[in-house]
This record gives sequence, structure tokens and C-alpha cells, in this order.
Amino acid sequence: MGLAMGRLLGWKKEAQIALLGLGGAGKTAILHKLKLGHAITTGPTIGFNSETLEYNGISFRVWDVGGQGEGVVFVVDSSDREWILRAKDLLNIILDEDQFRNRDLALLVFANKQDRPNVMSAAEIADEFGLPSRLCNRRWHIQSSSAISGEGLHEGMAWLCTNIR
Ligand code: GDP
Repeated sequence: MGLAMGRLLGWKKEAQIALLGLGGAGKTAILHKLKLGHAITTGPTIGFNSETLEYNGISFRVWDVGGQGEGVVFVVDSSDREWILRAKDLLNIILDEDQFRNRDLALLVFANKQDRPNVMSAAEIADEFGLPSRLCNRRWHIQSSSAISGEGLHEGMAWLCTNIR
């Protein structure tokens, strides 16, 4: 874990990763489980800003790590089917942004809160979001995760690290 985190932090110095998702999806919990929150807020050399944005009554948080890499992490609460539809709206807004469309960004979706009962699976969410057809020429991956147990978090970040250019 220590070495893996060091490699992640090494990447983060170079990488610009937007961590997006509706309020309550689990962004903060994921950062804390990965121990990135602590490292980021105390690390003197790593620039880190977070901003809460409102769009169309939806608030979401953007974390921006300065540098050259290119990736978007989108976190979804898999346990709330109504909010999944709102998350789909938000993701569509993001995918329509010139910043995403005109750049070769990798997209990682965390289908989070998989420890809860009656969740939608990662495959169901990918279908609901229309990802296979929408992003057929792009680098994207959906990873089921739990920020409570930690399940899937490292797998997801490992995919991101190898797919950021
Ligand atoms: P954010 O607004 O996206 O940063 O969401 P938070 O990280 O603050 O999480 C919102 C709530 O959901 C908190 O009470 C978290 O403890 C809880 N939460 C986040 N991730 C998970 C998860 O994977 N499983 C469960 N059961 N709860 C989670």
C-alpha cells in the first residue's frame, strides 16, 4: 500500500484529475480511504484546490491537481436510483464540455457504495449512462467500489494511472 500510494502521489504531481460527482456520491470518502485527503492537504509541494460548483440545481465538487496528466474520475452513488438519473445528467454535461470532447481524457467511473443493499451494478450503470456507445472511441472504465470497505478503489486508480497520457 505504501509503495502504491507513493506511485499514486507521484502521478498526482503530474496529473490533472477532476474528481466529479453529485454531492453525497462519496468523493470525500474515497479520497480519505485512499489517504489522499491527508497527503494532499499537508503536502507542501502538491497544489490542490477544490471548488463546489452549482449547475442547474446540482452541486458538484471539482478537485484540480495542477499539471499535465489528463483524467476525469466520476463518482456515482449506486444505491440511489433516482440520483443515478441526475448523475447521468451531470455526466452528460461533462462529456459535452469542450474540455472533455476536444482532449484525449481518460474517464474512470466509480460505481460507489456497493456495500449497500439493492445497488445497481457497475454494468447496469454503464448501460444506464450509455457509456459503451457514447464513448466507443475513448478510454473509459467503470469500477464498482465502496469507500467504506475500500473495495475497488485501488483497482480503479491503477486503471487511471495506466490510462492517463
Ligand atoms: P461527497 O459529497 O461526494 O464528497 O460525498 P461524501 O464522501 O461526503 O459521502 C457522503 C456520505 O456517503 C457520507 O456519509 C459517507 O460516509 C457515505 N459514503 C461514501 N461512500 C460510501 C460507500 O462506499 N458506502 C457507504 N455505505 N457509504 C458511503
